[in-house]
Amino acid sequence: MAVCSLFSVGVSLPSVEEETEKVIREKFKLTPRFEGIVPPDSRGSRTSQLLAEVQLQNVLSLKPSDALFAVAVTPYDLYSDSLNFVFGVAYPFKGGIVSYARLLSESTELFLSRVRKEVTHEMGHVFGLSHCPDPKCVMHFSNSLADTDYKSEDFCPLCKKKLASAMKQLGLF
Ligand SMILES: [Zn+2]
Ligand SMILES: [Zn+2]
Repeated sequence: MAVCSLFSVGVSLPSVEEETEKVIREKFKLTPRFEGIVPPDSRGSRTSQLLAEVQLQNVLSLKPSDALFAVAVTPYDLYSDSLNFVFGVAYPFKGGIVSYARLLSESTELFLSRVRKEVTHEMGHVFGLSHCPDPKCVMHFSNSLADTDYKSEDFCPLCKKKLASAMKQLGLF
């Protein structure tokens, strides 16, 4: 099985890493490999927010060459050039990053479900999927936490089909 590298940017939170590894293994048929904790890249950072693309590029530059993709999780809040915050970003066929800064909840179950949704969403982008108009589909764009809570952890039938064909092209099953 192809390897997907996993990094934590800033601090490690084992429960988040375990859920992320589960998603990588069960939904995308990749072997997750935890590569370690990476210090945040300060380029473009502003008060209590990191620039998402810079962190992702940094992580991609650290990805061992035997790994197919790289995924990162971080407790830091992220923003993007065009958005004042993002739950995550991804580059198709390269990798993605998810922030859990805005996913926290008193309920561990709810928190980890949100983590699984956002990781699945960014991994979907990594496999070339774009945003889906179905608000229940995990590929629906989350503008707020309410959007994340409303959508399911799964792909709609059409996105599932697109994912299957991308996985086939990559020789993953
Ligand atoms: Zn998206
Ligand atoms: Zn969909």
